[in-house]
Amino acid sequence: MIDTGDIEAFGPLKERLCLDFTNTADEHPSQPTAELLTSYARLVEWSVFSKSISDEQAEILLSLAQQHPSKADEALRFAITVRETLFRVLAAAADDRQPDATDMQAFNAILAKAMSHLHMTPALTNFSWTCALDENDLETMIWPVVWSAAELMTSHDLHYLRECASEDCEWLFLDTSKNHSRRWCSMKECGNRSKARSHYQRARNTT
Ligand SMILES: [Zn+2]
Repeated sequence: MIDTGDIEAFGPLKERLCLDFTNTADEHPSQPTAELLTSYARLVEWSVFSKSISDEQAEILLSLAQQHPSKADEALRFAITVRETLFRVLAAAADDRQPDATDMQAFNAILAKAMSHLHMTPALTNFSWTCALDENDLETMIWPVVWSAAELMTSHDLHYLRECASEDCEWLFLDTSKNHSRRWCSMKECGNRSKARSHYQRARNTT
């Protein structure tokens, strides 16, 4: 069983997978004190917590990472690069701005990779996209995140995308409140997060 306690304490919003992923850092580019993905193992824990991968898949990925530490580091760096690209594109959309052309180019290159892992599967009344996971691919958890961003970017929900108004928080969220007047990622999370983060840092220092 993978322990995801520290990540739960960090406070994901569970709105959209891509937003929870961009919210694994409080600021972009992230500083060590505001970074949740401090190791490949943490990326795997986050993936279990967000239900992107199963416990069994996580165990296989962790043992693969132990056998190939430099490849695991590379996968972590790639995940963070993807996250920062997603953040810049989505934050621009939240601000009603066009993203930078270089960011869109980078996003499209990542999207092309993600799409090579997609399958169309029959659902109840129509068909749906499914992202195939491969526990022998250290980057496997990244593809569903990228696809989640593509779905958000082409959906009506994009109009409700916001960046937290707090000075030291760059979390993205969907403002689905009745009057669409929500300004904070969450009063509860924004207030509690610095506490949760110190708890996380303390836990990390003792492991
Ligand atoms: Zn916030």
